[in-house]
Amino acid sequence: MSDATSKPATVLVIEDEVQIRRLLRVCLERGGYQVAEASSGKEGIGEAAACSPDAVLLDLGLPDMDGLSVLKRLREWSQVPILVVSVRAHEDEKITALDSGANDYVTKPFSTGELLARLRAALRSAQPPEANAVFRSGRLQVDLATRTVKVKGQKVRLTATEYALLLLFVQHAGKVLTHGQILREIWGPDGGDRTGQLRVYMAYLRDKLEANPGEPELLITEPGVGYRLVVPD
Ligand code: CA
Repeated sequence: MSDATSKPATVLVIEDEVQIRRLLRVCLERGGYQVAEASSGKEGIGEAAACSPDAVLLDLGLPDMDGLSVLKRLREWSQVPILVVSVRAHEDEKITALDSGANDYVTKPFSTGELLARLRAALRSAQPPEANAVFRSGRLQVDLATRTVKVKGQKVRLTATEYALLLLFVQHAGKVLTHGQILREIWGPDGGDRTGQLRVYMAYLRDKLEANPGEPELLITEPGVGYRLVVPD
């Protein structure tokens, strides 16, 4: 195959630790990606401009700049999917990274399978769905044009708020949405204190969409951070 679509995606790795860079390179090349590397924030920003990567893996602990600053600088001009790779397991940092425009995060030590799955999801979410698109994931089918939601082929009735919430997840399928992002989108700038209400609406949605609402397979909880709608591989 030599058509343009078969060109491997390029992933830029911004990571100061040589061993982790090497590990990521091996993992990504096995996954079929081309790899570009940078060992500092400044170099990473330059490399992102020079090689127009399809995705960026960004370490938060860099020697010259805070990774979050690198993220914000990249977001000033680029919508490239950015996955934050961090040893820091603090939820506050994940939330700040996501709120600053990261598509997802992977916490070190990570499994290569998980990393590649999250990367695929980030690359897919970078391609906006076509107009009239029908979104499908497992048992769920959402026709965005007719606002029809089906579960295993059966039409499901959603309230306006439930549909708005589901639509938000579909528009960001595969991506973690923080509680703050969801509250702002659904209830506006003053929505920040409605976390309890969000939990209630998530329960309603899961009741209507999930096979087993207690063990969701579509609308996954990211503990302490937010929620994610699973996209099929
Ligand atoms: Ca580091």
